[in-house]
Amino acid sequence: MILVAADIQNSGTVLAWKLMCAENPGLAAIEQGIRLVEANETDWSVGRGGYPNAQGEVELDAGVMDGRNRASGAVAGLHGYLHPVSVAYEVMQRLPHVLLVGAGAAQFAEEVGAEKADLLTDTMRENLIKWQKSVGLNQPSTDLIGAVHRGMDPQHTGGTTVYLAQDSQGDIAVATSTSGWAWKYPGRVGDTPIAGAGFFADNRYGAAACTGRGEMAIRSGLARLTVALMQMGRTVEEAVSEALKDVFYLGDKRGEIHLYAIDTRGNHDVACIGPVRPAGNEHYYFVARDGDPEPGRQYPRHIDE
Ligand code: ASP
Repeated sequence: MILVAADIQNSGTVLAWKLMCAENPGLAAIEQGIRLVEANETDWSVGRGGYPNAQGEVELDAGVMDGRNRASGAVAGLHGYLHPVSVAYEVMQRLPHVLLVGAGAAQFAEEVGAEKADLLTDTMRENLIKWQKSVGLNQPSTDLIGAVHRGMDPQHTGGTTVYLAQDSQGDIAVATSTSGWAWKYPGRVGDTPIAGAGFFADNRYGAAACTGRGEMAIRSGLARLTVALMQMGRTVEEAVSEALKDVFYLGDKRGEIHLYAIDTRGNHDVACIGPVRPAGNEHYYFVARDGDPEPGRQYPRHIDE
């Protein structure tokens, strides 16, 4: 068994690992873990309390994949519901579809009885007002395009919760959830709900998931590429390195990406590209393996161009 998680406040890994140790299926366990992250309103990149778009609406993205047959469900631009990861899981289980967006995703969430929530917290409303002022959006203006460019901060305004697991049965699964890029253009969708870009799992080879600039992960098909490299015989470290090096081709020096991967033999690797983070702002993640009482903190490798 192994659990690897990007969960900045470590809100849900202890529960997910406990459920896995009690021999629950990995996908159900990581869904439960991510629900705790989504409900933690002091985590600014996911669920309630997450970053809103440039006009103040919190639009949530999430995805799941079951490595037994690569069944997948996802939602994008979901507004007004607390647990996008569970809505994504329901899409996988109840619909002949993979991805629902916007109003249709909300309609489905309502139909399956998902929990509603006011997602914009007072703290985030204050941050939004500050941001809108800093980019001139407090003036009567329709220049959202300019504002979104002016407001990009690659190291302080993103974050995705990603959980990868191989459970006691040897089954592999992945789940993701995010409020996406802070102050994004309304309707912008990142990699988090895109199977193959932000997440991918296949029992035969392993799983991968991404955090960071989603546009780069989409343009690279990054999670799929990583698992495909393992399929072609690379170790998990080789696959992560090679997949991230491919992202350099995009030429975006500002973008930061973290790539998480596990293989079928209990190995994992996490590496990142992009500007080196200043001391005190280093990225970290959590890992638990057979015998561990609970997940412990680890740091990713940095890969230079
Ligand atoms: N990957 C997420 C997105 O692009 C955000 C992040 O992880 O920083 O929406």
